[in-house]
Amino acid sequence: MVGTANNARIRQAFSVVNGIQDLGLSSNPASNAGSECGTIEFTREDVEALLSEKMRYKNKFNYKERCENMMDYIKRLRLCIKWFQELEGDYAFEHERLRNALELSEQKCAEMELALRNKEEELNLIIVELRKSFASLQEKLAKEESDKLVRGLDSEFNVAALDSLAREKETRLNMERSHASLSEDLGKAQEELQSANQRIASINDMYKLLQEYNSSLQHYNTKLQKDIDAAHESIKRGEKEKSAIVENLSTLRGQYKSLQEQLSTYKASQDEAMRQKDALVHEVASMRVELQQVRDDRDHQLSQVQALTAEVIKHKELAVSSEDLEARCASQSNQIRSLSDQLAAAEEKLEVSDLSALETKTEFEGQKKLINELRNHLEDAEYKLIEGEKLRKRLHNTILELKGNIRVFCRVRPLLPDDSSGSEGKLISYPTTTEALGRGIDIMQNGQKHSFSFDRVFMPDESQEDVFVEISQLVQSALDGYKVCIFAYGQTGSGKTYTMMGKPGHPDLKGLIPRSLEQIFQTRQSLLSQGWKYEMQVSMLEIYNETIRDLLSTNRDASRLENACNGKQYAIKHDASGNTHVTDLTVVDVCSTKEVSYLLDRAAHSRSVGKTQMNEQSSRSHFVFTLRISGLNESTEQQVQGILNLIDLAGSERLSKSGSTGDRLKETQAINKSLSSLSDVIFALAKKEKKEDHVPFRNSKLTYLLQPCLGGDSKTLMFVNISPEASSVGESLCSLRFAARVNACEIGTPRRQTSMRSSESRLSLG
Ligand code: ADP
Ligand code: MG
Repeated sequence: MVGTANNARIRQAFSVVNGIQDLGLSSNPASNAGSECGTIEFTREDVEALLSEKMRYKNKFNYKERCENMMDYIKRLRLCIKWFQELEGDYAFEHERLRNALELSEQKCAEMELALRNKEEELNLIIVELRKSFASLQEKLAKEESDKLVRGLDSEFNVAALDSLAREKETRLNMERSHASLSEDLGKAQEELQSANQRIASINDMYKLLQEYNSSLQHYNTKLQKDIDAAHESIKRGEKEKSAIVENLSTLRGQYKSLQEQLSTYKASQDEAMRQKDALVHEVASMRVELQQVRDDRDHQLSQVQALTAEVIKHKELAVSSEDLEARCASQSNQIRSLSDQLAAAEEKLEVSDLSALETKTEFEGQKKLINELRNHLEDAEYKLIEGEKLRKRLHNTILELKGNIRVFCRVRPLLPDDSSGSEGKLISYPTTTEALGRGIDIMQNGQKHSFSFDRVFMPDESQEDVFVEISQLVQSALDGYKVCIFAYGQTGSGKTYTMMGKPGHPDLKGLIPRSLEQIFQTRQSLLSQGWKYEMQVSMLEIYNETIRDLLSTNRDASRLENACNGKQYAIKHDASGNTHVTDLTVVDVCSTKEVSYLLDRAAHSRSVGKTQMNEQSSRSHFVFTLRISGLNESTEQQVQGILNLIDLAGSERLSKSGSTGDRLKETQAINKSLSSLSDVIFALAKKEKKEDHVPFRNSKLTYLLQPCLGGDSKTLMFVNISPEASSVGESLCSLRFAARVNACEIGTPRRQTSMRSSESRLSLG
């Protein structure tokens, strides 16, 4: 009952923990213990090592490492405590069990003692009785023998007496045998009693041992409890330290963030200062030029003064000679009189010349003053001009900012002699209220009036020049490094090509493309004096049925043909810096308007025209004119890269109306698809500003080609061309609705400010 497996395990664990050898009751080998117990065992050394463990850190302030170590230590302590609690439970259970066994044994012993005592008493009684009967039988025997002697020898009686004697002897023998067996029994019972007493004594010993063992366990338990408390305290301390560290860390993070913010503001202010410095450097350069001019002027004036003083000296010499004559007159009295007249005349002359010299001098001074005044005026005027230019650019950019970087202009062409007779005045009208003047358009359809308003509405009588004036600022911003797109949208015959290119053979009626280029080349010339040098490249292409055609191709290039066979020709590629490259596309360096107009003629020749029922000359393709501008200011080392895209879109008329079939049907479908993906891109860009959507640039060649120039900080302008014909009202309404939707889009608002600022600092120099 003592040496059970469980008991062995507990004892083993105890001895392992306390480091004491078996208390004398061990009968099982110690090796069993480890294999029976699945949980982790701790030796006393282990526990002591754990309790006296000290944390060592490479870096005292590495709170993370400290925290991790502490957590690990806590984990191990918890494991040890758990193991110990299990062990303690086992001990308590075993102790209880042993106590019960002891009580049971004691009870049995007492019972056995009582039974033995009873048996002894019984046996003693039997012995006493037997002794009594033995005594009475001996008495009887003696009596009989004496009777025999008295009576003499009677044979019959003698025989009987001998018989009874024999019987008596027999009973005596029996009696003696039973006595012997009883005393044997007694001896056995006494032996049993002795062994029971011995067992009681041993049980008592064991009980004492167990009690000792129990008390030592309790002692150990209290010690462990103390250790646990200490460990808990150290855990608590660790946790407190950890929270302090975490707090420290978060404050440090806050400080780091604020420092970063400060850094970025410092950087911004540094950038601003750098920009101001650049501006000042440039101003100094221009002022130096002016100073040189002023110096030259001054030198010129000084030489004039010298000439005048030389004249004065000449007059003075004349006076000296007249004095000589006087002296000669005195010595030669004859001559005096004759010469006195001469002298008087000479004196008079001298006076007059003196006077005139004085007059010239005052005149010269007055003129000098006037020149100075005029120069001041000129400087003032120049300063005002520069300021005015700056203000104008700022206002232009502010207008764009207010509007968003996409704007829509509407242009209504006049009724042509060929047009079907309709009453334009009745169909299209222009509101005259102050706020809608030049911005509103009303169109009647089936007696219903539809009103639209755009950034600008050009009435039929407005000239090409009037239209160009409105976009010249936009063209200008291409030179300032912006990406600019100008589209002409509208049904066939509404005046897109007229607006973009103008009327061939009529220089006065030339369109936006030639006018823009003239302006760009003029501005380029005027910026030359400020150190700006521009390089320009032109490419022209058309997109017909979703395929690109190079309008400047000479078709003589062998590699081009090879690429065309491989299907690699005219692939659109965007590089990392946002530049678009079309493989094999002819790109021509240009430096004059003449070169460009030659190229435009060449392109016009190559352009695809198709025939539909609507208009024999209608263009069935998108025409894209691209001017790449790269400018370098050698004095300030500044660089700008602008792009001007001028796009004459294909006719927007709907499928049903063009009445097309076959190839023409395919054309119309391709056009409709690319126009709708253009609008999809514009709408998606407007939405993207609100961070909603993906922009489907890849849905058409046109949008993919123009991807870097749409949205972002680029500037887009769309002309919606309207035909006043009565038969076109439906198409016109469609175009106006489309334009109104585009007009409602705002693209580039959040990014505009930075791009504006950077461009403006450059503009103030350029
Ligand atoms: P689209 O290119 O849209 O098909 P066009 O530019 O070819 O249209 O114009 C159709 C016709 O209308 C042409 O003969 C053109 O000269 C004429 N036209 C267009 N707009 C005007 C205008 N504002 N003033 C005078 N004639 C115009
Ligand atoms: Mg056209």
